[in-house]
Amino acid sequence: MNVLVFGPPGSGKSTHSRTIVERYGLAYISSGDLIRQEIARGTELGRELKRYLEGGELIPDTVVNTLVISRLRKHRRNFILDGYPRTAEQVLTLENYLYDHGLTIDIAMEIFITKEESIERISGRMVCPKCGAVYHVRYRPPRVPGRCDVCGSPLVRREDDRPEIVAERYDVYMRNMEPIIKFYRKQGVYVRIDGHGGIKEVWERMRPLLDYVNSREASSRVFR
Ligand SMILES: [Zn+2]
Repeated sequence: MNVLVFGPPGSGKSTHSRTIVERYGLAYISSGDLIRQEIARGTELGRELKRYLEGGELIPDTVVNTLVISRLRKHRRNFILDGYPRTAEQVLTLENYLYDHGLTIDIAMEIFITKEESIERISGRMVCPKCGAVYHVRYRPPRVPGRCDVCGSPLVRREDDRPEIVAERYDVYMRNMEPIIKFYRKQGVYVRIDGHGGIKEVWERMRPLLDYVNSREASSRVFR
């Protein structure tokens, strides 16, 4: 089973991706992780990526495509892609690669939340600048308000997590994903999951669908 998962900021897609990886034994391929790993390895490409990020620039499609496709070559089938594809250009590259290797996306799952929910979930986040612990005013409040449970340092809010920035990130997501959703809807593999509510609640909406697609994919392989 080959899976795409996407959703606006705060949708919980990375949390659910990890559950999917464990349950179905898929390879987890995240464009964000691949970029961070490349930077950490200090390669020439990594230094180039760092310059883009530090300059607040978008990383060109060709670079993201190279990173993801070279990772896909190692797995061939049974993968989940998180954060990719994000542009029409990336969809083209991915679909060409899959076609050349006789592969398809079996399910493209969007975990959808409203803009209000996205802002609430992300802008309520507080982090400890010293030890990196993450809190949330509503979902995971520290024992002492404004103080880290682990080390007692004053908690801060990330610049990117400010409501107006989250609203902007949400709009960018919706704009970018529109043609991509249209494409996968035409392919008959797009599913929109209601991402509101608790993690377990949302997972129970996803699980039956994934179980179904996974069993169908397994039985079709026998006759192929
Ligand atoms: Zn701390």
